[in-house]
Amino acid sequence: MTDFHLACASAAVVGAIGSSRRRHWVILAILLSASLSWVEGAQAASRPAYALVVHGGAGTILRENMDAETEAEYRAKITEALHRGRDVLDRGGSAVDAVEATIRVMEDSPLFNAGKGAVFTEAGVNEMDSSIMDGRDLNAGAVAGVKTIRNPISAARAVMEKSPHVMLAREGAEAFAAEQGLAIVDPEYFFTKTRWDALQRALEQKAEADDEKHGTVGCVALDREGNLAAGTSTGGMTMKMWGRIGDSPIIGAGTYANNETCGVSATGHGEYFIRNVVAYDIAARMQYLGESLDEAARFVIHDRLVSQGALGGVVAMDREGNISMPFNTSGMYRGYLKSTGEEEVLFYDEPADLDPK
Ligand code: ASP
Repeated sequence: MTDFHLACASAAVVGAIGSSRRRHWVILAILLSASLSWVEGAQAASRPAYALVVHGGAGTILRENMDAETEAEYRAKITEALHRGRDVLDRGGSAVDAVEATIRVMEDSPLFNAGKGAVFTEAGVNEMDSSIMDGRDLNAGAVAGVKTIRNPISAARAVMEKSPHVMLAREGAEAFAAEQGLAIVDPEYFFTKTRWDALQRALEQKAEADDEKHGTVGCVALDREGNLAAGTSTGGMTMKMWGRIGDSPIIGAGTYANNETCGVSATGHGEYFIRNVVAYDIAARMQYLGESLDEAARFVIHDRLVSQGALGGVVAMDREGNISMPFNTSGMYRGYLKSTGEEEVLFYDEPADLDPK
């Protein structure tokens, strides 16, 4: 029996037993509350109980350069990351828990430029940046230029929850992570031959090779309580100067989350993302201009950044679980899932099922 049927039945009962004008008011009140709960039900039905979106970096990702085996490897790892986050959200975990768990899977994989598999600086070392933000209370944490923390996203979360600060860098961040009991590894742990060879090629050409540097990872989650969180983790850009910090650990540039608007994680040429305050700009456009998530995200990526020759993309989600994944490069590793069962992993410049038709 629906709420509406229930209300009609109760109204009939009241009608049968009551009398006078008071009876009409009772019937009116019951019908009103039934229609209100029907409207709420319809809204809840359109919003998933939880949702998750990830990226694994934007750049030159072309179908013609990808063999079936590599494609399958990326698909499997992105799916594993999504499912790890889904398990957290499904059992009632917070959006922050889900973002950390999801990103850790990608940091532990050599396929992505984060954690193991991070790119090298011009000095031949791996220096990693990461951040996380809780849309519930705008709490945020970040680490920058770290060389020994196995999972920088967990260190960013520890800074957010266990320190009075928002960002810690280099040895200070590493000492804090060790104090917090996080896994500390020898810098050798982050070495991968693919990234080393990419640095050698870049050094020979004396230029950053765009197709070698993508792979930053990021995630936005919406939990059962309706809270948003976002996080990003990266090794930065191949052949960056040592000591260079990109957009990924900068709140508002590479990562932003606010329950009032949206959660965003970015990937691309960090200097432009910092100058344009990309993640916050998307949230601000929604808040001050009343744009939808997709309008705001597409404007920033396709208009503002393109007009400056800046490459990259974002994954973003609003509190209704709407998702937007624009990029202005040839591809972006990306995927999402919702409690409704929708799930998709995409790499190339191809429409997602959730794109406006
Ligand atoms: N945004 C990252 C940085 O500039 C790199 C990337 O996303 O590819 O450090």
